[in-house]
Amino acid sequence: MLVTHISSTPTVPLVALDTLWFQVAGTVCNIECTHCFISCSPKNHSHEMLTLPEVERRLAEARELGVREYYFTGGEPFMNRDLLPILEATLRQGPATVLTNGMLLRPEVCRKLRTLFDASDYSLDIRVSLDGFDAESHDAIRGKGVWDRVMIGLRNLADAGLNPVITVTTAAEGVATAAGRSRFLELIRGFGFERPRLKVLSLFRIGAEEHRTRAYEDWERLTSDTIGQESLDESLDNKAAGVLQCSSCRMVTSKGVYVCPILIEEPEARMGETLTETLRPFPLKYGACHTCWVDGVTCTTCAAFAT
Ligand code: SF4
Ligand code: SF4
Repeated sequence: MLVTHISSTPTVPLVALDTLWFQVAGTVCNIECTHCFISCSPKNHSHEMLTLPEVERRLAEARELGVREYYFTGGEPFMNRDLLPILEATLRQGPATVLTNGMLLRPEVCRKLRTLFDASDYSLDIRVSLDGFDAESHDAIRGKGVWDRVMIGLRNLADAGLNPVITVTTAAEGVATAAGRSRFLELIRGFGFERPRLKVLSLFRIGAEEHRTRAYEDWERLTSDTIGQESLDESLDNKAAGVLQCSSCRMVTSKGVYVCPILIEEPEARMGETLTETLRPFPLKYGACHTCWVDGVTCTTCAAFAT
């Protein structure tokens, strides 16, 4: 008898809901980076900003479900006027991280962040994106004049005594090498941060990045063969699932709860209205899932390193 092996799309279980993301600024950003995987811009209102009452409602549900940490992204989170009260509410129940392009880190904002940090038993991390070692390389991706404003923002963080995590995508030349990472760490030390932290992120070939370089090809999909799964069971076991952040996170947006921070423009990645509705497996059928698996991507701060 001829036995035919059929490769299938694996699903990822939700092992534990440890991490909750908030698309706190929706898809609105003050700049328009050429590699943005959500194509955020000043005019993109695909997802709207979240309000303090909306976030508080989600935090209450998250507390019941045992969520351990919270991330805030956009768009540009500091464009949301509710951000500081939102962080204050969050820091009453767990650690918080904000992902920012660093342009709106004014002295008074940094001082307020420091006050929140000091008043909480939990950590507050600010992640600032850089895409080059200098104005020319950074602004080629992020826009003219952005570098200068980020440098001011980093100085303001340093003055407030806050040590950021610097996030660099692989679009930045040389960051994939040890020498490139050392150069970034030296740049960060130049601000007086004694414990520089650097996180290198893979690019996803969706959104604006799809046009800057290329879109995913058909072969860039996960199958039971790609992940070396011998069983006909389509679900990853908990150990294999652990390398994917969607096994332990969900993303809250103004349109509902999505599987992860990457797929918020995929209608089928919206898993429900409440967090409880999303406590189920998800099919890994997108090109971005291939990147997550192959590159071992996690968007959380825990993989940041210093040397
Ligand atoms: S990558 Fe970040 S800073 Fe750049 S457009 Fe997208 S959300 Fe804004
Ligand atoms: S894009 Fe990555 S994090 Fe999102 S569902 Fe796919 S594998 Fe999971």
